[in-house]
Amino acid sequence: MAESAGRQQTPLEARSPFDLRVDLGGDVPETDVRTALAEGNMGFMHSFTTGSAVDGPGVRVVGWTTGCMWRCQYCHNPDTWTMRNGIPVSAGRALEELGKYRHGLQVMAGGLTMSGGEPLMQRRFVMKVVAGAKSMGIHTALETNGYLGAELTEHDLDNIDLVLLGIKTWDRERHRALTGRDIEPTLELARRLAARRLPIWVRFVLVPGLTDDPADVGHIADFAAQLGNVERVEVLPFHQMGRFKWHTLGIRYALEHVEAPTNEAVAEVCGIFRARGLTAH
Ligand code: SF4
Repeated sequence: MAESAGRQQTPLEARSPFDLRVDLGGDVPETDVRTALAEGNMGFMHSFTTGSAVDGPGVRVVGWTTGCMWRCQYCHNPDTWTMRNGIPVSAGRALEELGKYRHGLQVMAGGLTMSGGEPLMQRRFVMKVVAGAKSMGIHTALETNGYLGAELTEHDLDNIDLVLLGIKTWDRERHRALTGRDIEPTLELARRLAARRLPIWVRFVLVPGLTDDPADVGHIADFAAQLGNVERVEVLPFHQMGRFKWHTLGIRYALEHVEAPTNEAVAEVCGIFRARGLTAH
């Protein structure tokens, strides 16, 4: 598909993924969307951000894709749920952008992280970009909730250096209530990555009253520890930076009055992971 034919191009760079973006791909015909997804030559991106030091090792470029099949109660980017809220962009253009940073990324021991939304909603496009990055000698990371992990081919996994895997909560019922979906595909991807010794950073969002049950965290820690390929666990304190997006989009926000966890609570949860021999911070 001709990228952005007849429309003014929205810059890919955003100040941060917290910028609200809606309906940037709204005029792309449905058949073109289906073709793009099937072929992977075009995808929908919320933004590229540069200079991230928190989305994998070193300093990184992060490609934020749109589209997610989960509805996490604490999602801070609900505008990424809808694919058409993203900017239609060809894999070629995405790689052209990335190429500008190639040298700097290598000097700063960084790389590319593809995130979202859920990037595997656009697996073919995302993996084209990841493969292109890899062929430029750029370290590659995929941040995912793992739900569509079964769609990753062995060849796809060859091009990924690191997976940032979100594990939201352990209890099956609570997981459904929190995300709208089952946890098992996420755990299955983790086991598959472990069998390949492909490194994982587990990302766990700590939400007071929702994901802070020590027994539940302990189950996640047990699971992560026995995998053998979890390099670190990142305990991410819940915050309210995305609240305005829920309001603007008119979606009922269940965590309206939930506060960020205290430093002590974060330290306590880190301690649960560390007690299993994992690196956590
Ligand atoms: S998986 Fe990520 S993008 Fe999707 S709803 Fe959950 S927090 Fe939001």
